Amino acid sequence: MLRLAFLGSGSSGNAALIRWGQTRLLLDCGFSVAELSRRLAGLGERLEDVQAVFVTHEHSDHVAALRGLSRRGHLALGLTAGTARAVKLAKRAKAERLEVRPGVPLRVGEIEVLTFRTLHDACEPVGYRFGFPDGSALGIATDLGVAGDGAVEALRGCALLGLESNHDPDMLRAGPYPAFLKRRILSDRGHLSNAQAADLLGRLAHPGLRQVFLLHLSKVNNRPPLAAAVLGEKLRSLGLGAGLAVVGPDQPLEYPARNRADAPRPQLELFA
Ligand SMILES: [Zn+2]
Ligand SMILES: [Zn+2]
Repeated sequence: MLRLAFLGSGSSGNAALIRWGQTRLLLDCGFSVAELSRRLAGLGERLEDVQAVFVTHEHSDHVAALRGLSRRGHLALGLTAGTARAVKLAKRAKAERLEVRPGVPLRVGEIEVLTFRTLHDACEPVGYRFGFPDGSALGIATDLGVAGDGAVEALRGCALLGLESNHDPDMLRAGPYPAFLKRRILSDRGHLSNAQAADLLGRLAHPGLRQVFLLHLSKVNNRPPLAAAVLGEKLRSLGLGAGLAVVGPDQPLEYPARNRADAPRPQLELFA
């Protein structure tokens, strides 16, 4: 059965553990190796047991540990050719390279990995769809300026969806960021707003949708209750009973939640 744990999400770092049986993958590694290990240990997992690390793009909040991890022989690194060029992996890299090609499925253990192109200011950024032996799938779309038809096509039918819900445009416009950065975030190669995430959710909605995770919220230009309200309203308007959870920068969030008093708690969890 699936064990999914977001280790943190936001501009200070992104990583998620995706596990089915003995197959363990990481999506993005935007923390130091020590911090990744620490967060995994908090979930009872070890970096040594991870078979492959897949990466969305080369920005440091997604690849901070990549050079360190590339020196480990037990791991495979899944990157597009463009991302691999941009991160300039160490010559001493021991990790096996898995070439990620948008639209071409890969298999690691029991998990099928499919990628799709995203529009973002990076060399060859991608989003991911992970398929599991029970036929269910997890889709992750983060760091994209707009959600194109390719993303919608690739994420169709996913029971679990992680969607970027980066900012509220009014907060961003009125906020302290310099003008060039505001333009970049609002552009087609920047980040999805809460309303854009809701629009994407609307295009992906189906009766089998079980859970939506909101990712990469800006600490400055968004608030978890605001993002949850916009996306929660969307779910209600669609008549869907899927769960909705906001993934914060520091507190790991597990799905399904462990039924233990000391289990990490999400910052906010709403069930529509
Ligand atoms: Zn990012
Ligand atoms: Zn980025």
